[in-house]
Amino acid sequence: MEPREELSSKNIKVGIPRALHFYRYYPFWKKLLDELRVQIVLSPPTNKKIVEEGVTHGFGELCIPVKIYYGQVLKLIREHPDLDYVFVPRYVAEVKESYFCPKFLSLPDIIKILPAVPKILNFEVNVKEFPIATSAIELGKELGRTQNQSLNAYREAQKYFDAYHKFLRDGAPVNHALRLVENNRPFTLPKRKKKGDLKFLLLGHAYNIFDTFINLDFQKKLVDQGVEVLTIENLPESIFKAPVIISKRLRNYWKHEEEIMAAIRYFLTKGRKEIDGVIFLISFACGPDSLISELIMRDMKVVGLPFLEITMDEHSGEAGMITRIEAFVEMARRKKKKLAIDSKNKETIKA
Ligand code: SF4
Repeated sequence: MEPREELSSKNIKVGIPRALHFYRYYPFWKKLLDELRVQIVLSPPTNKKIVEEGVTHGFGELCIPVKIYYGQVLKLIREHPDLDYVFVPRYVAEVKESYFCPKFLSLPDIIKILPAVPKILNFEVNVKEFPIATSAIELGKELGRTQNQSLNAYREAQKYFDAYHKFLRDGAPVNHALRLVENNRPFTLPKRKKKGDLKFLLLGHAYNIFDTFINLDFQKKLVDQGVEVLTIENLPESIFKAPVIISKRLRNYWKHEEEIMAAIRYFLTKGRKEIDGVIFLISFACGPDSLISELIMRDMKVVGLPFLEITMDEHSGEAGMITRIEAFVEMARRKKKKLAIDSKNKETIKA
């Protein structure tokens, strides 16, 4: 094996846009690139200017998360003209049974045509064709690293990513965990805040749920209303093990949507009493989400669980969002009180 000093001799600067899969895979990417001794430059949290720039470069019907990705790449390039690479992974399939949305499949190709983009550092995840370790070797090769160095880096990254997932399942909020990763801090849970009287499951793609600019800090608004928020990342692994059967003829082929439906399946059955409502944040013009939101809505009606769907785009306004949240929280609270009174009455009659 080559000594570490040799690895650090070349100072390669790699830019990572804070968008899309950043909210899901950044801990893995960071550890992998750190181990390969490259310097990471992260773009800042989304802001108005980044969104505006992304919207200018993305065509009208494109979903807002991809437009933000454009804006984040352009911000990186402008502020760091000395970047050697911009990291744009191609996620095709992480498991054999499902695919990522087509937007992820073509991401490096569409970013390549933006003005003044440096070399693209690709990392292709497609387990239908080859193991992820192969992609790590390819990535290392591009950076001038040996096969052994790349494989070691990959193993370390996987170990760190497993620890990160355990931390989330122990209850860590994703944005808190990402901040710790960004600052090279150990995984420690935040101080527990006062518990709310309601518990909601917040569904959606990580980039919709955890980009607090584009979702107008949705989670904080719920917490301010006395709601405890659960996201898919906090749920136990066992929930996602069995595939979701929609019907004999209909199967879902999208990776994220499969997770969303698996979570719903759990709360419609075994976990029914664990939550008081479900909110689904979706992006305007998102094909995969609009398909499953119909199915989720149907199931929610059957079990009588309060359900709210919120569609976001670059024009979403704060006032409208607050009004909808307040009304929904009030409705869920009344429903919970009524259920408690009904069950007390039943017990009295039995006695
Ligand atoms: S899943 Fe939907 S929101 Fe995500 S990239 Fe694809 S179209 Fe956009």
